[in-house]
Amino acid sequence: MQTGKIGVTTENIFPIIKKFLYSDHEIFLRELISNAVDATQKLKTMSSAGDFNGVIGETTIQVSVDKKKKTIKISDCGIGMTKDELDKYLNQIAFSSANDFLDKYKDQSSAIIGHFGLGFYSSFMVSDKVEVITKSYQEGAQAVKWSCDGSPEFSIEDVEKENRGTDVILYIDKESKDFLEESKIEQLLKKYCKFLPVDIAFGKDKEWKDGKMVETGKDKIINNTKPAWTLKPADLKDEDYVKFYRELYPSGDEPLFNIHLNVDYPFKLTGILYFPKIKNNIEIQKNKIQLYCNQVFVTDSVEGIVPEFLTLLHGVIDSPDIPLNVSRSYLQSDSNVKKISSHITKKVADRLGDIFKNNRDEFEKKWDNLKLFIEYGMMTDEKFYEKASKFALLKNTDERYFTFEEYEKLIKENQTDKNKTLIYLYSTNKTDQYTYIDKAKNKGYDVLLLDGQLDVHLINQLESKLKESRFVRVDSDVVDKLIEKDETRESKLSDELKDDLKSVFNVSVKSKEVFNVVIETLDEKDAPALITQSEFMRRMKEMAQTGGGMNFYGELPDSYNLVVNPNHPLVIKISEGLQAEAGASLDENNTQRKRLKDEIDFMDKEQKKKKADEIIQVEKDDLENLRKELSALENSRKDILESYGAANKVVKQIIDLALLANNMLRGEELSTFVKRSVDLL
Ligand code: ADP
Repeated sequence: MQTGKIGVTTENIFPIIKKFLYSDHEIFLRELISNAVDATQKLKTMSSAGDFNGVIGETTIQVSVDKKKKTIKISDCGIGMTKDELDKYLNQIAFSSANDFLDKYKDQSSAIIGHFGLGFYSSFMVSDKVEVITKSYQEGAQAVKWSCDGSPEFSIEDVEKENRGTDVILYIDKESKDFLEESKIEQLLKKYCKFLPVDIAFGKDKEWKDGKMVETGKDKIINNTKPAWTLKPADLKDEDYVKFYRELYPSGDEPLFNIHLNVDYPFKLTGILYFPKIKNNIEIQKNKIQLYCNQVFVTDSVEGIVPEFLTLLHGVIDSPDIPLNVSRSYLQSDSNVKKISSHITKKVADRLGDIFKNNRDEFEKKWDNLKLFIEYGMMTDEKFYEKASKFALLKNTDERYFTFEEYEKLIKENQTDKNKTLIYLYSTNKTDQYTYIDKAKNKGYDVLLLDGQLDVHLINQLESKLKESRFVRVDSDVVDKLIEKDETRESKLSDELKDDLKSVFNVSVKSKEVFNVVIETLDEKDAPALITQSEFMRRMKEMAQTGGGMNFYGELPDSYNLVVNPNHPLVIKISEGLQAEAGASLDENNTQRKRLKDEIDFMDKEQKKKKADEIIQVEKDDLENLRKELSALENSRKDILESYGAANKVVKQIIDLALLANNMLRGEELSTFVKRSVDLL
């Protein structure tokens, strides 16, 4: 029997291992099984290369738990180790690599959690003692047993072992006794080993016999050694991809499409990505991609490895070229990772482009469920935008789909305004904005439906990308003004009378301080009044709500316009009524105001001719008094108009109807309106 001391610098590395990797003890199983898989694969490789001529035979890796003895055993039928190899690999290489590793990452424990690098020595995270009993594949090899109790002391002795391969036996320590539960081990095997390339057996299959579950003699294999992503795309049918999706995510909607990734150069990468149906709320959809390294599960958080928007996809990425024992921030600057990330982005865009080209019908049918993902990608990834702008679709309120280019052609003629800006009209809600959509359509305009979670942001992006284009919500102005053309409509009222109407209508919306009365000459068949909301203000508020960083706007009250149509017969009637009732005093007021204004203008001009110190105080006072007088007259004019408006039931009724059409008349105001309507009838 040989004993020795592992070449250590630290007196006792194991307490450090235990403490250090505290939160991720479970990876020991992944590490040991990976070693067993490697040893088995090596033997197969050697056999096919002619370096091993024996019979390979059974290669299933056996995992077992003995609760009484408090041990976990992992047995493989791989290449095994000779005494010298054992000494070299476990005492020197493995140990020093564990040591190096800990040295390197002492200060950044988060970097190593869950990642490779510790290998065989991670078994000491959960064990008091570890034994390795191994017999090399070489002819006439002597089996040996290595044993180490967690101090740097180890022993190696010759033993009897019938078969080729390696048994690793862990004597589980007190703090780790959870790992002696079969259910715990089964759960870990399912997590880390589900797709390993060598059969792994844990327990026996069970079946129903005479009314109870009994064990059959057959090993229960916990893994699928040939997961879909390792097969050739040509060998897989659509059903196979869906079946594999079910294997990954037993519950959940069927995916829309999939992409099979297969790269050999300049890095190795395989995988299958699925486009899930994404409806609302991006956040809960994230982190469904699983990252593997040679079929060993590593993590399901792939931030830093793929662009943010791709984390909305589901599926598997497998690459031995992603450095896993480094921190996330380092990952992002790794050149291989950068290449991988842009390759995946390109593949995803190409695949979508292909489906669009070859099967537009299918693409359109799935668009609503795909849109959020694509818009997210376009907003966050310039390269993706470039490609996606060729196949991204716009849907109009008649449920027709257009590419950006097609849509531009469609509206170019009719919806270019007098400044040569192309106006994209859109609605965010077909029901609420029905009247406005209808008006726009009657005028020959097309209206887009932009009701998605990211549409406000998309609009901003498109405005900066598309040349001389602007998006205008269909209810942000009266239809004539949505797209300003050179044509002017004749007004039936003089400017002065129109100006009076502003104050007449102002009275009833005074209580709503964020209403602004504007007089807009519309068709006599249009409504007497309607409500609009400025595109700019509304958009800023929406951006603030979806976290666009415009908090200032978020806090402003909603501000609306009350648009009054002076060509409508009812409004003309109000104006006539005003003339009849208060015409004389308004005329008198107007004449006086005109006289005052002229006087002020004259004095103002005279004084401007002089230097500042030449103007005497009396002159200044005179001017000041005239101004005060004028303002008093203006106030009294307003009073006349507003009290006329306040007493006029039709004015109130017109305003309430406009509010009602916008779903803005509620509570007490609504009930007053109903009462007033009955009175008027
Ligand atoms: P790594 O697997 O990263 O090389 P480990 O510390 O896990 O590092 O193992 C060190 C070495 O010990 C391996 O490279 C391998 O040569 C040998 N080894 C470990 N486990 C086995 C096994 N089950 N069968 C044969 N050789 C093994």
